[in-house]
Amino acid sequence: MTVNIDYQKIGLKYGVEIHQRLATTRKLFCACPARISTEQPIGTINRKLRAVAGELGLIDMAAAYEFIRNRMFTYQIFKNETCLVDIDEEPPHPIDPEAVKTVLELALLMKADIPGEIHVMRKTVIDGSNTSGFQRTAIVGLNGVLSYANKKVFIPVIAVEEESAGIVANDGDNVTYRLDRLGIPLVEISTGLLQGLTPKDAVEIAYHIGMLVRSTGKVLRGLGTIRQDVNVSIDGGNRVEIKGVQTLDLIEKAIEYEAQRQLALKEVKDELKSRGCKLELFEKPQDVTHIFADSKSKFIKKILAENNKIYGFNLAKFGGLLKKDLCPGKTFGKELSEYAVAQGVGGITHTDEDLTNYQMDAEMDRVKAFLGHELEDCTVIVAGQGEKVVRACNAVLERCKTALFEIPREVRAANEDGTTKFSRPLPGSSRLYPETDIPPFRITKNLIEETRKHIPETWDKKLGRFVKMGLTKELSDQIIRSEYLNDFENIIKNTGVSAKFAASVLMSTMTELRREGVKVEKVNEEKMLEIFKLLEAKKIGKEAVNEVLKGVSKYPMQTVDETISKLGLKTISKEELRAIIRDVVQKNINVIKKDKKSAVKKLMGTVMKHVRGKIDGKVVNQILIEEVKKSHAVGPP
Ligand SMILES: [Zn+2]
Repeated sequence: MTVNIDYQKIGLKYGVEIHQRLATTRKLFCACPARISTEQPIGTINRKLRAVAGELGLIDMAAAYEFIRNRMFTYQIFKNETCLVDIDEEPPHPIDPEAVKTVLELALLMKADIPGEIHVMRKTVIDGSNTSGFQRTAIVGLNGVLSYANKKVFIPVIAVEEESAGIVANDGDNVTYRLDRLGIPLVEISTGLLQGLTPKDAVEIAYHIGMLVRSTGKVLRGLGTIRQDVNVSIDGGNRVEIKGVQTLDLIEKAIEYEAQRQLALKEVKDELKSRGCKLELFEKPQDVTHIFADSKSKFIKKILAENNKIYGFNLAKFGGLLKKDLCPGKTFGKELSEYAVAQGVGGITHTDEDLTNYQMDAEMDRVKAFLGHELEDCTVIVAGQGEKVVRACNAVLERCKTALFEIPREVRAANEDGTTKFSRPLPGSSRLYPETDIPPFRITKNLIEETRKHIPETWDKKLGRFVKMGLTKELSDQIIRSEYLNDFENIIKNTGVSAKFAASVLMSTMTELRREGVKVEKVNEEKMLEIFKLLEAKKIGKEAVNEVLKGVSKYPMQTVDETISKLGLKTISKEELRAIIRDVVQKNINVIKKDKKSAVKKLMGTVMKHVRGKIDGKVVNQILIEEVKKSHAVGPP
């Protein structure tokens, strides 16, 4: 298993694609509110996929694949979030101007070329996630650039598009979708194909695209509102699209694993070639159910009791290869199994795996004999409902044939550990065509000028602004990435407290307190600002911030003012201080008589016990010296 990969050497190329839901009032092509319903669906409708031919009359490979699967789609309807447009019974309305303007902001931020008119296009979707059989998309900017930290990444296309229906259940034959999600506007930002970068660089790029999008303040937050996809290839490999990478860090893993996977599949290809494997050696799957008639295996008994079939086929020259790891925890055999699973069976069983647990060694030997298995071969069996078994066997056989020549171009779904599983073949390029039901949207010079006025600050500009306030680049960067960015901006905007002090409280003190187990998340933006306003008004001392934050975390129902009074953290005036000092001096007059001026040092500790955090230590020292002198105990005035 290759671990340290030289990404330059293997010719790693990838692209990053970010989809983010926009916080608009309505959906992109109808008047329904753009939100996920919190209520139960009021009904469902069922549809089957129509085989839609592209403009050239060609049926896409991916569409044909879906057609073969012959699935039924069920759509949940919601009272307020679904209308006739969503179920494809009414033509779409003109595109939502609010969504277009938000995406226009982003396009301008990335200095993209803006077309004079926005034309809505149709992109074929064949997984049932859109009732119309296509997703509508419109290009708002071309040839943009994402700039951050002296780096520039080419952004060929910035588009606004409609969100797909949300998947609720998938039992193989029937997929259920919810229609409230369908049509919520998304911004789609994708990089061009990037070369000479490491998988880690992709995390940084995705992060900065995410930051940029959030900076508009017009995006939905929360689980599922942002989706990250990557496409990956290496020299001698092929384009593989990985959909739905959940977190930023997983982007690195997903690219790393995909590079490993393609490297390993190249090795499989070379090995098959050197063994003399060729297409003529592949044979059709055969019904081997009869061989298992008297099987003692629980697994087989169950299959036969349900009147299911077992089919087998021999993979000539594949012996041992199904054991090969493609990436951590994933063998070639496991990958092949996913092609069978996609056809509605449980998976495959093969002679490269340890079959002792299945208790069917004798039967497997007979299957091998029946199929003419030779030493260098691998024999595969698939069990399940008759028609599905044949489809599953053929899917695995086709995948194995491809293994002789190339790594298949396909769409893979990201797992939570960064590995991926087969989802469907990659659709061809013939899948974009014009949407004639929707008039073009004109982008006037006026609109561009108006939008330009509101475009948010870029990451680079923000960093520059923070550095000018006296923060280091590192600290500025840390704040921008942190959850306290809004707090910091609030404090800087609304108080005269120094940026350095605010940054140190937000980045250091808060972290330390969290480590100590203080529930600092209870200090919301309002309370944080309140604390800094009290600091500015000198109602609390800088030294007391730690205690104030602890107190506010502990008593979230109280106001900051109540908390600091309760904890005795309010500052005291010089007059109050003087009274305390006089009291201490009187009580220690003998000490002063004895130690003279050096008594100040001793008494300082005593006074500070009473006033720590409530007034500046220098003031305490100064007044203490004055009062010690006035006591006449140190000598004549
Ligand atoms: Zn609607």
